[in-house]
Amino acid sequence: MPAVLLEGKTVALKIKENVKKEIEALKNQYGITPKLVSLGAGENPASEIYLKSQEKNAKELGIDYELKKLDANINQDDFIKAIDSLNKDKSVHGIIVQMPLPQRIDTKLISRYISPLKDVEAVHPQNMGEIVFGKANILPCTAAACMELLNSISSLELYGKEAVVVGHSEIVGKPLALLLLNKFATVTVCHIATGQRGTLPEFVKKAEILIVAVGKAGLVKGDWIKEGAIVIDVGINRVEGKIVGDVEFDKAAEKASYITPVPGGVGPLTVAILMRNVVEAFKQQQ
Ligand code: NAP
Repeated sequence: MPAVLLEGKTVALKIKENVKKEIEALKNQYGITPKLVSLGAGENPASEIYLKSQEKNAKELGIDYELKKLDANINQDDFIKAIDSLNKDKSVHGIIVQMPLPQRIDTKLISRYISPLKDVEAVHPQNMGEIVFGKANILPCTAAACMELLNSISSLELYGKEAVVVGHSEIVGKPLALLLLNKFATVTVCHIATGQRGTLPEFVKKAEILIVAVGKAGLVKGDWIKEGAIVIDVGINRVEGKIVGDVEFDKAAEKASYITPVPGGVGPLTVAILMRNVVEAFKQQQ
């Protein structure tokens, strides 16, 4: 396997070390402990692992963490009221809304009710909008995690590079395309219509930097990868009891210069960025 593995753990450790130091300094300066609240409705077995990881990381770094689960039958107005009371609570510095929410609640609408100052996942339109201007202090965690992995390659200059992002979700693909654009990469975004038109291989083949965030195992074939490309696989898929990404790993690793493993690539970094965002939100509120 000629490709170098881009492991999220190594980069995450550095970020968490800095976060821990900053939190100690902020506690000394203000006499307050930053607090993160994760708000959801009902039980979601699929999100349990992420919630446990949030709690473990917060505790390790000195952030108070509260998991609030409202009744699964809660209506949209009452959910918005719960967000509003967290917005007003001065002891709370960061708010996460756990996905998925019950179907009667409009997820996109909900993100507008989180105070932009406490929006540690950067889902509020104001925080999203700041990315357009290259001025965002709080970035969507997974998109920022991909950028950190690229930054960890010291020889990489993004300026003028052909970057292809597969997937255009609000939390990963779209913000990532803007973050790459802000670094003067030449960015192409592929999505469902690219897949349906059958032109996905064509775009992938020209990518010097390829980031795939779709959620379909084996969508990107190994032999589509350009020789020497950097491949970041965000996808998480369970296949025959194993977690795999969206890219055919073994074949892609034969051609790429760097590639993320799944698991162990983007995942561990996402939660580290979330903790960094809590610090940023805390500072913005002081
Ligand atoms: P999402 O909201 O479902 O978005 C998937 C995107 O892929 C959509 O833009 C969709 O387009 C596009 N798509 C679907 N089929 C396609 C095809 N055949 N060709 C090209 N594009 C296609 O998912 P997400 O939240 O962005 O997450 C994507 C994956 O990353 C999932 O596996 C998720 O579990 C994983 N993830 C990992 C982390 C981590 O920390 N490692 C964090 C977040 C997400 P349309 O919307 O037009 O259908």
